[in-house]
Amino acid sequence: MRTLFAVFSLAVTSLFAIPGQSSPANNDLPTAAQQAMNAIDSEKIRATVKYLSDDKLEGRGTGQKGGDTAADWIAQQFKSYGLQPAGDNGTFFQNIKFYGITTDQKNTQFSFVPKSGGPITLKFADDFVATDETHSEKSVINAPLVYVGYGINAPEYQWDDYKGIDLKGKVLLMLVNEPPSDDPNFFKGKALTYYGRWTYKYEEAARRGAVGAILIHKTEMASYPWEVVRNSWGGESSFLQNEKDPKLKSAGWIQLAVAQKLAQAAGKDLDTLMKDATSRSFKPVELPITVKETMVSKVRPFSSRNVIAKVAGSDARLKDQAIIYTAHYDHLGIHPNEPGDNIYNGAADNATGCGILLELARAYSSAKEKPKRSILFAAVTAEEQGLLGSKYLGEHPPVPAHNISLDLNYDDIQPFGEPQQVVVSGAERTTIYPLVEKEAKEFEMSIQPDDRPEAGHYYRSDHFSLARVGVPAFSVNEGPLFKGHDLAWGEEKDRDYVAHRYHQPSDEYKEDMDFTADAKVAKFGFALGWEVANSAELAGWQPGDEFEKARKQSAALR
Ligand SMILES: [Zn+2]
Repeated sequence: MRTLFAVFSLAVTSLFAIPGQSSPANNDLPTAAQQAMNAIDSEKIRATVKYLSDDKLEGRGTGQKGGDTAADWIAQQFKSYGLQPAGDNGTFFQNIKFYGITTDQKNTQFSFVPKSGGPITLKFADDFVATDETHSEKSVINAPLVYVGYGINAPEYQWDDYKGIDLKGKVLLMLVNEPPSDDPNFFKGKALTYYGRWTYKYEEAARRGAVGAILIHKTEMASYPWEVVRNSWGGESSFLQNEKDPKLKSAGWIQLAVAQKLAQAAGKDLDTLMKDATSRSFKPVELPITVKETMVSKVRPFSSRNVIAKVAGSDARLKDQAIIYTAHYDHLGIHPNEPGDNIYNGAADNATGCGILLELARAYSSAKEKPKRSILFAAVTAEEQGLLGSKYLGEHPPVPAHNISLDLNYDDIQPFGEPQQVVVSGAERTTIYPLVEKEAKEFEMSIQPDDRPEAGHYYRSDHFSLARVGVPAFSVNEGPLFKGHDLAWGEEKDRDYVAHRYHQPSDEYKEDMDFTADAKVAKFGFALGWEVANSAELAGWQPGDEFEKARKQSAALR
């Protein structure tokens, strides 16, 4: 499938490509819009990436000094481009209250005590990671361990791993992802649904009264290596204050090798346990193991900010509606306990998206005519903490969610040169897909389908927070085929990034980065956004889509 597609897209690009032309004329946009779009400047994106990923910004940790500096700076840029503030009380900022939780790695203790045999004592970071979601400084767990397979209850797929068993006060051992299948009507086939995400697993465990949940990490099932888990859980994690949902005393992961040892101590075989979980008739297995855990955490209440700006629409009636562009500005901050370079600069992730967001803001603001609907720009915080800034934005939008036609999100746009493919996964689920296809053609990019729908990327960036409240939303990114290179080159660049820089201190700015890519997907998003801002109808979801219900609920409030 992949190979066939690659051959096809090469043929298409060579037919349509015009040598030396990197900004194809867009015949459907008014002259004022085309001029504004063509002023989008890859070197300005470079300047933003260079600034935001400098060591001085300390990795833009949520609620850390560097993150605050980034927010202030982004607001200044919006202001200097002549945008209006769209945050709280006439400011560019939306204030959000959080708890920051850092697990005390030295004093936290974790062991599995089998009925017979010695305890298995785990070492933080190497063997396990865990966070206390209850924002207590100390929580003690002494509870039986129950294996619950995938930990999913999905009535629409006639799937229930829990079978009504009482799990109050217990610790649940579970698998990441969802039962494997190629059947599109069963957990969307190979594609990951929200049931497969770790966030769902912890939410479901807490709803059932469990005190803890432990996910078994297997690289192929999680779609990312242990280092990503370890680095994401190694520093401070944030939670929105004032949330009513139940929380776990310990939400964690263990390494595959630890799980194998644990199964053995319980007199089981891990592969068999994993295989049993793929059946509908699976029932939770009480293991002859007691979990003894003392979670010691540093709890830091703090606030952080989304930065929101607006370009008012030109139509007296439609200007109360909007489209929104989003990009997270936070990254992983500093991890003071790690030796060597411990600043997670986040150049690609997501200073690139911020550079694009600011260029879009500048372009719309400088356009001599404005689109009918208003345009919002939100640089959101706490994405790396579980999409929290955008969650707050979705629940407190500057324009009611039912009046937001579309969210286009930018996250991690690799500066590799001129892309010949655009990735818009999730766009096919919305009513504007024909427009997306038309724009892709005008920009001489083929639409690259999600080559790993099983990784569930749709649920892993900020557009998902807007989709949850019904707003048609997706991210815009580039595919791996770049001008002057074959597909293998781009795929190797992607692999190299994931293996050596993604969520690591080495995601740093380099002079040889080529931001043509970022400017091109920015222009694509500009043209698409402009057209949607001027269309007769608000965008919607395709009938039967998982977010259609949320859209209808919010529209009923109109
Ligand atoms: Zn990101």
